[in-house]
Amino acid sequence: MEEYELGIIGAGPTGLFSTFCAGLREIKSITLEGLETTGGQILKFYPVKKVLDVEGIPEIKGVDLANSLLKQAQLFGNKITLNSKVTDIKKDPSGKFILEVNGGDRYLVKAILMCTGIGSLVPAKLDVDGELKYEGVGVHYTVNQTEPFVDKTVAVIGGGDSGFDWANQIVGVAKKIYIVEYLPVLKALERSISDLMSTGKGETILNTAVKEVIGDGKKVTGIKIMNRKDDSIRVLPVDTLIVAIGHKAETNSFKSTTFEVLMNKLKVNEDYQTSVPGIYAAGDLSIFGKKPKVGLLAVGGAEAYEAINNIKKYLNPEASVFGEHSTNIKL
Ligand SMILES: Cc1cc2nc3c(=O)[nH]c(=O)nc-3n(C[C@H](O)[C@H](O)[C@H](O)COP(=O)(O)OP(=O)(O)OC[C@H]3O[C@@H](n4cnc5c(N)ncnc54)[C@H](O)[C@@H]3O)c2cc1C
Repeated sequence: MEEYELGIIGAGPTGLFSTFCAGLREIKSITLEGLETTGGQILKFYPVKKVLDVEGIPEIKGVDLANSLLKQAQLFGNKITLNSKVTDIKKDPSGKFILEVNGGDRYLVKAILMCTGIGSLVPAKLDVDGELKYEGVGVHYTVNQTEPFVDKTVAVIGGGDSGFDWANQIVGVAKKIYIVEYLPVLKALERSISDLMSTGKGETILNTAVKEVIGDGKKVTGIKIMNRKDDSIRVLPVDTLIVAIGHKAETNSFKSTTFEVLMNKLKVNEDYQTSVPGIYAAGDLSIFGKKPKVGLLAVGGAEAYEAINNIKKYLNPEASVFGEHSTNIKL
């Protein structure tokens, strides 16, 4: 079992800044993120919006902020692992914690910092007949490898950034890609749209709802789609589909560990420690005192810094709670 001083759960903005702060305080940490990308809510909910309230940055696009947070988090080489949803937290007889990931892999850590925000972000489903039946054998929610799309006619459901990002990742190997969008307009970046269209393999179908995933029992053979203007229905023959219609949050629950909660958030004390000694929390998921907290990037960042300083002291009681100013560090 790999062993670390600290396990950071979640690589949203708070988890990423915590990773940087852990590096700053020379804490050996691993950051575990359930999704295939870091950036949490920023990348999933507002990648192209402009953020105006990050200290010292007058204006920045969500995706650029997420990229900067990742770059900063990687500064000291602390490990970040994607596609790693923490499914349970167990206590080891030695007093350390075992982090169970995706129901299998395990990591041994001395302390934990929970940065799981509004919960596990999971892809939204179409909620139509046939979808569940062909999940994994024709219905995909993410692109981890291009192999399932080789020489395939693919329908990407959702004409936003994620949809076009997936489409551009597989267009080199796919035969044809339809982008099926519910709205009459595409929401993706112009550059992503033109990248796909310039290959000659892309086609957009707008103002259209998916009604059913059709198959022969073993594989997908098409989708039933409805034109929202005249309600006409037709079958679009496709071999596979990628559903990219956004994400929703699911509350985390861990079989072996329970926390004190208030207003659905983990209660922390002035050291950012939860009701479980050795487990800390920062960002959108935590609450101190009884007053509701505003979920903001800057708030999560400040909490991350404070939590890491307290964790340093927890890990090494000789250490000072206050670290050096970063300006003193030579890179
Ligand atoms: C539309 C919108 C616009 C916003 N605009 C602004 C703004 O302009 N300014 C501002 O300051 N704030 C804004 N916010 C709020 C800001 O995005 C949040 O405060 C911030 O994302 C909180 O960061 P976080 O890291 O605590 O949580 P999150 O961003 O929610 O990240 C949590 C991460 O943890 C991961 N995770 C959860 N459970 C697990 C698990 N069991 N195992 C592994 N990983 C897990 C999730 O996949 C996710 O990546 C906005 C939010 C929204 C939705």
